[in-house]
Amino acid sequence: MFNEPDAHQEIRDAIRALCKQFPDEYHRQIDEARGYPEQFVDALMAAGWLAAMIPEAYGGTGLGLTAASVIMEEINRSGGNSGAVHGQMYNMGTLLRNGSPAQKDKYLPDIAAGRLRIQSMAVTEPTTGTDTTQLKTTAVKKDGRYVVNGQKVWISRVQHSDLMILLARTTPLSEVKKKSEGMSTFIVDLRQAIGKGLTVRPIPNMVNHETNELFFDNLEIPEENLIGVEGQGFRYILDGLNAERTLIAAECIGDGYWFIDRATRYANERVVFGRPIGKNQGVQFPIADAFIELEAANLMRFQAAERFDAGQPCGAQANMAKYLAAKASWEAANVCLQTHGGFGFAHEYDIERKFRETRLYQVAPISTNLIYSYVAEHLLGLPRSF
Ligand SMILES: Cc1cc2nc3c(=O)[nH]c(=O)nc-3n(C[C@H](O)[C@H](O)[C@H](O)COP(=O)(O)OP(=O)(O)OC[C@H]3O[C@@H](n4cnc5c(N)ncnc54)[C@H](O)[C@@H]3O)c2cc1C
Repeated sequence: MFNEPDAHQEIRDAIRALCKQFPDEYHRQIDEARGYPEQFVDALMAAGWLAAMIPEAYGGTGLGLTAASVIMEEINRSGGNSGAVHGQMYNMGTLLRNGSPAQKDKYLPDIAAGRLRIQSMAVTEPTTGTDTTQLKTTAVKKDGRYVVNGQKVWISRVQHSDLMILLARTTPLSEVKKKSEGMSTFIVDLRQAIGKGLTVRPIPNMVNHETNELFFDNLEIPEENLIGVEGQGFRYILDGLNAERTLIAAECIGDGYWFIDRATRYANERVVFGRPIGKNQGVQFPIADAFIELEAANLMRFQAAERFDAGQPCGAQANMAKYLAAKASWEAANVCLQTHGGFGFAHEYDIERKFRETRLYQVAPISTNLIYSYVAEHLLGLPRSF
């Protein structure tokens, strides 16, 4: 519906062709086995799609966020789940924007070529939750190294990543003027860290999403792995959130269209009381309603992505796009399940799987309440509530 440039259609066609090699059965079996879609991820990496936001100078395609969001959308629209790969698309942004020339030369070409996976970013902690400035993991400088101690939770794709971006406190909270200061970002080489100061404990969860508890016990990180200026790490992480939120909005849009397609198809085919169920307004109106919401959310997603690519402020649009798209995909999921009646619960229809997958996005990477709070404070000028 949205009037997109022709280049997007080429991307859509290429991703659809790649995704066709990984049909519903592939994703279903991976989900049932609680496995990781290795071949699918390898295919995306090998084709260079996950390097869409890395400049050409570092071997990426430099396509930008709008095009990257189309890639994520198409993966989800094909029945896949970008949750297995989206970290590779945006985690390198912290390095790209704030890393030294030497760090960028060292890592970005290998990330672009898919030789290095930077699928993980460790921010959330068990006792601080959304209140990130209270995080307790510390990195203390000692003899040319940082020694890390603490704990993280819900850190995704660690078992399928070579590098991880870590946010840790380098100056105690009691010694900083602002609580957002004194935190730093690091590149952790997981190949060296796991078993040598870093313990990874998987968290079984509702979605087939590889996510973990991390325990840091005197993990040593070389000094040169500090990204940017010590103490400024929280700002670096915040700077990356708009891209992450916009990409996840696009994934929700992809899910939403998948649900609408399936619901419509089934409503046309399923005959009960001698007529297709879709002939009943009680069945067709909720599908139409979900479709309208999805189309509206999609406009905000494109607005956020286009502003990001133009270098304009896009925090409000990225947050609202994530909110609207997560809500629309969830409503589409619910309607799709309802339209399928009992069959919606059967694994072989893939609806229950996608239903679980899309539900996550009202909680992570930021929960709905925190978006309300952002809009209330930053757009409407209401008092900060926490
Ligand atoms: C599958 C999965 C993967 C994840 N992957 C990663 C990852 O790779 N890296 C990473 O760092 N994190 C990751 N997370 C963590 C995720 O970002 C957090 O779960 C999310 O930000 C919410 O934080 P929390 O769970 O601590 O909830 P809390 O902060 O404890 O909040 C709990 C509830 O209370 C509400 N709430 C809290 N404070 C307020 C307030 N002031 N006003 C109104 N409501 C409030 C929240 O909206 C939420 O609904 C992941 C989470 C999941 C479930």
